[in-house]
Formats: sequence, structure tokens, C-alpha cells
Amino acid sequence: METFLFTKEIKNIRSTFFDRGITIPVTLHEKFSEYLSGGRLYKGKSRKITIFLGGVDFEVTLRSIGFTNPTRGEDWQINWTAGHDISKKLKQIFAKSHTDANEKDEYFVLYATGVKDTFCMEPILNHEILIPKMSELALENLLELPNLTGEAEALIERCNLLKLYKLNLNLSEQLKREYRYRCQICGLDVGLFFGAQVVDCHHINYFSVSLDNAASNLLIVCPNHHRIIHAAEPTFDRERKLFRYPNGLEEVLRLNAHL
Ligand SMILES: [Zn+2]
Ligand SMILES: [Zn+2]
Repeated sequence: METFLFTKEIKNIRSTFFDRGITIPVTLHEKFSEYLSGGRLYKGKSRKITIFLGGVDFEVTLRSIGFTNPTRGEDWQINWTAGHDISKKLKQIFAKSHTDANEKDEYFVLYATGVKDTFCMEPILNHEILIPKMSELALENLLELPNLTGEAEALIERCNLLKLYKLNLNLSEQLKREYRYRCQICGLDVGLFFGAQVVDCHHINYFSVSLDNAASNLLIVCPNHHRIIHAAEPTFDRERKLFRYPNGLEEVLRLNAHL
């Protein structure tokens, strides 16, 4: 559903990253083309693509630049300008790298998604850390935050686990989009009326125990169902795709396309 393409340390591309864009490694041109609706991009051509970053879609240009020296071939770049919204977002997310040339340990990861011409950029920031002994619900909520700030940051300590988790985090975003922000249990998009997206991603086998962040362990649920699941702790019957609550109530998934 989601395919890792490449990762770069911001420090190494800092001079062009914020105001100009990124270069796609030549070795990935072929693979990258599989995720373009128009197939391979020819030399000198450009195309509009979408990058999903920090919960927002940005339209940017994918461009193939040919060199006069034939041995150099072509460069594929995803371009933006200093005034582009994605540039502002990147400066906000990677604020440390933007202001400090020596900042280390900030990376982005680029993924292809299940939707053609749409790619996910996932920031990996050096201050991201995990609270070891949190409740599962708090842990899930924390991990859903695009950027940790203030109190949450003060509470937590460094842990590589979160980095690993973050590498897979876009999966939950992807699933939410596939379910159009509706709850798999009740089928409702409870934020719709308010123009907000509030759907959650729940781990069937608790992440704090299983460390399993694969799609097969994820459920998209509304905040009400999410609270209820963690409060009542129903068992999930994978065969019948239903939750069985301690009081005997059974709730069958209304929406399911991935389990
Ligand atoms: Zn629900
Ligand atoms: Zn949960």
C-alpha cells in the first residue's frame, strides 16, 4: 500500500531543500515512474504531483531536466519556490535545520502511496521521543501528533522506537484517507459536520505490547469508539470482523477493506 522510496538527511541538502526542492536519485527514476499516472517522465517534461506532508496536501512540480552532456543524463527534481506553502511548512517542521546548518539527525522519508501522483513526505526529527510507560490510548494519541511540542516534549525521553514507528506512521494517514475519515465500526465521519477530521487509528493488538504497526493491526475508528474500546476492552474477532464487549454486545465492522 505504501512504498518506501528514499530518505535524506536535511543537513546534506540544506542549501536547496527549503527554497528549491529535492532531487530524485537516478537509480529510482524507474521505480518512481510506477507511481505516476502518465508513466515515465521524459527529458525536459514536467508534471504536477501531490506531496502529503504534516497532514496537508501540497501541489508541486516534478521536472526532468536534461543535461547537454549526454553522460550526465537527466535530473529529476521535485520543485518548489521559497514562497510556496510547502516551503513554509518545511521551514516550520524542520525549524532546527533551517536555522542551524549543523543540526544533525533530521531526515525526511519519501513514500509512494496507493494513489498515483501522490507521495508522502515523513519528517524524522531528532527530538522525537517516547514516553515508555504510558497508557495505550495516550501513546497512540502522542504518536499521532505531527510535531511534539511543549509539555509532551518535556515529558518524553529519546527512544529509537518512535523513529521506527514514524517510518510507518504514514500508513495510518493512508488508511484514514481510504476510509474517507469514517469510523470502521459505526461508519460515521463525526468531524464532517464541523469541517474537521478527527478519526483515530487504533492498534488491534496494542502497539505498546505488540509493536505491530502493520496495516493488518490497524483499525480506523471515531474518537467515541476509540475511547470505548480502550475503556471496555472488547475482544476483536478477526474471523467475523466484530468486537465482542464484556457485556455481551457484538459490533460488526461496517466498513472494512483491509482486514
Ligand atoms: Zn465509531
Ligand atoms: Zn487505540
